[in-house]
Amino acid sequence: METETPVQQASAPAANSIKISNRERVIYPESGITKGQLADYYAAIAPAMLPWVGSRPISLVRCPQGRAKKCFFQKHDAGSFGTHVHHVAIQEKDGHEEPYLFIDDADGLLTCVQMGTIEFHGWGARIEDVEKADRLVFDLDPDEGLDFEAVRSAAFQFRDILNQIGLATFPMVTGGKGVHVIAPLTPKAEWPEVKDFARRLAMAVAQIDPANFTAALPKAQRKGRIFVDYLRNQRGATAVMPYCVRARPEAPLAAPITWKEMETIDKPSHWHVGDATELVKRVGSKALANWGRADQVLPDL
Ligand code: ATP
Ligand code: MN
Ligand code: MN
Repeated sequence: METETPVQQASAPAANSIKISNRERVIYPESGITKGQLADYYAAIAPAMLPWVGSRPISLVRCPQGRAKKCFFQKHDAGSFGTHVHHVAIQEKDGHEEPYLFIDDADGLLTCVQMGTIEFHGWGARIEDVEKADRLVFDLDPDEGLDFEAVRSAAFQFRDILNQIGLATFPMVTGGKGVHVIAPLTPKAEWPEVKDFARRLAMAVAQIDPANFTAALPKAQRKGRIFVDYLRNQRGATAVMPYCVRARPEAPLAAPITWKEMETIDKPSHWHVGDATELVKRVGSKALANWGRADQVLPDL
C-alpha cells in the first residue's frame, strides 16, 4: 500500500440528529454485525462518502430484517423517509414524473440506515441536471471461476485504453467480485451519447481481446471472461457508491483505491464495516486526495 501523508481533514464522525432504533438487531447473521455497528460506520464515513453519494438520485438496498431476509431495491418514495431524505422529480419513459430520492447530509444518510438501508447506489448524474452524466463507470464482472488476477489485469487494460483517448480513471473495489473503473466527467454529454460511447468502447475492447473480455449480455457468452458491463452508463442506471457497505456476508465495503494499490490488493472485499478508522485515515491521505476528480469530457471515438 502507498505511504500515507496525512492532510488536514476532519475525521470525527459527522454530527447528526438521527436516533437509531434497535441498535442490537443483528443485520449480518454470519458475523453478528448489528444495526448499531452499521450506523456507527456510516456516521464515521459520512464526511468521506457524502461528496459521492450526496446530491444525486439514489437507489437503496433495504433489508429491514437483516441481509439474510427479504431485501428490496428502492428508488422512489412519496415521503415516508421524513424531512432529511429529499426528492427530485425525474421524468419516466412514459412522460410522467416520479420522486427520486437524494440526500445531502449525514442526517439523510443516517435516516436511510435507520430505515433499514444497507447499500447506497447512485445515478451517474447530479440532481442539478439528471440528463448529463458526471461519470463513466466500467463495471468489470468476472465470470465465475476467474480469479482476481484476471480482474486486476482487465482494470489496468481499461485504464490504459481510456488514458490513451484522454480520460483519467480511478479504480474502486466493489466489495463483491469485481472492480469499477471510473472516469469522472464534467457534466456536458447527455445519456444517449454517454451510453453510445460506453457501448462502443466496451465492444471495441471485446473485439481486440476476445479471449479475456465480452460485452455480450447473454450469460452463456461470458464463459471464462470478464463481462464489461457498460450498461451502468445509461439513464436511470446506478452503481454502488464509494464507501458503501455491501449486503453480503462479512459486510465488505465498496472502496476507492489508487492504481498503485491495484497492483497489490488481494481481493475486492479487502475492507469491512469494522474498518471505518482506517478508511477515514485513507481518505485524508495524499494518495487518495484527488481520487475521482478530473475535469474532462467525452473524447471523440
Ligand atoms: P460486483 O463486483 O460483485 O459485480 P457490483 O456492485 O458491481 O459488485 P453488479 O451486479 O455488477 O454488482 O451490479 C453493478 C451495479 O448495477 C450495482 O452496483 C447496482 O447499482 C446496479 N444493480 C445491480 N443489480 C441491480 C438491481 N437488481 N436493481 C437495480 N440496480 C442494480
Ligand atoms: Mn460488478
Ligand atoms: Mn454488473
